[in-house]
Amino acid sequence: MSLLVVGTIAYDSVSLGTEPRVDSLGGSATYFSIAASFFTSVAVVAVVGKDFEDSDRQYLLSRGVDISGMETAGGQTFRWSGSYDPNNMNIRETLETKLNVLAEFTPVIDDKHKNSDYLFLANIDPLIQINVLEQMASRPRLVAMDTMNFWIDDHVENLRETVALVDVLFMDENEIKTFTGKRSVIEAAKSAREMGPKVVVVKKGEHGVLVFNEGDTFSAPAFPLEKVKDPTGAGDCFAGGFMGYLSRSGDLSAEGFRRATIVGSVMGSYAVENFGSNRFESLVSDEIDDRFRGMAGMTYFDPLSNEDKLLDDNQGSKLIGETH
Ligand code: AMP
Repeated sequence: MSLLVVGTIAYDSVSLGTEPRVDSLGGSATYFSIAASFFTSVAVVAVVGKDFEDSDRQYLLSRGVDISGMETAGGQTFRWSGSYDPNNMNIRETLETKLNVLAEFTPVIDDKHKNSDYLFLANIDPLIQINVLEQMASRPRLVAMDTMNFWIDDHVENLRETVALVDVLFMDENEIKTFTGKRSVIEAAKSAREMGPKVVVVKKGEHGVLVFNEGDTFSAPAFPLEKVKDPTGAGDCFAGGFMGYLSRSGDLSAEGFRRATIVGSVMGSYAVENFGSNRFESLVSDEIDDRFRGMAGMTYFDPLSNEDKLLDDNQGSKLIGETH
């Protein structure tokens, strides 16, 4: 089935405590489409500037990404710079966001993309997200979105409008707390679900992900890695694996969403293993499959049979009594 994404294509400058990565290919649509391309055909709606390198265009094409909806405008490509705390790669600070060509971008969706079955509104101006959704010829089977503090801090009214229109919302732990004004992830997810989305996915970096679906809460760890080289794009690659898998399988059951979550975690883990999207250049499907199965082994435990109780009827209360 077809998957369409609207988001940013960027040149990122990232300080990682070791060598900095300057003006290298990034952006929410870039990471998302590269990860999704392992599972399904994915088309991108985005804008770049005249400075966009042909080698980067060729790289997206080499992954089979349909970039016919990528517009080249006069001006510079969107730029983002950030730095990670070298002692805790979960902590990131945005140093600068230069919208450049994004500031004037009004997407136009080709007729061939207007009937896409799956739509991902990646991190970008919420007005652009709404605009793309409105241009679809019919409601896609599944509409999902992601965002970032930049839009939560200064464009929250527009963001609330977008959130009300989607089926799946992706946010990281701090973003969803800021967005909803709640102090716990559980309260925040509940409040976000009340705004419209059926499924809320809360990303917690190296601590994994929590998925709140109708009547089904799922917790998945991040794939344990000894070294994280560059966490940039992990969230977008998570979403790329998640949506890529759903688009490939067409399985929107609770079990399907659980599997999509694990696929997302696997793609996120590959993203952070090398700088930018470099790891995907050599990644093969067997490696994805290995980690996918590895995650099942890693999280499985035998909960004992119903007859085989964890504690005898009175044992628990006796132990509690003994400690007093
Ligand atoms: P992630 O690490 O998954 O949160 O995504 C990082 C990517 O988001 C980088 O490659 C940036 O180019 C892109 N990005 C950063 N700020 C924004 C923003 N305000 N809007 C859209 N994309 C952004």
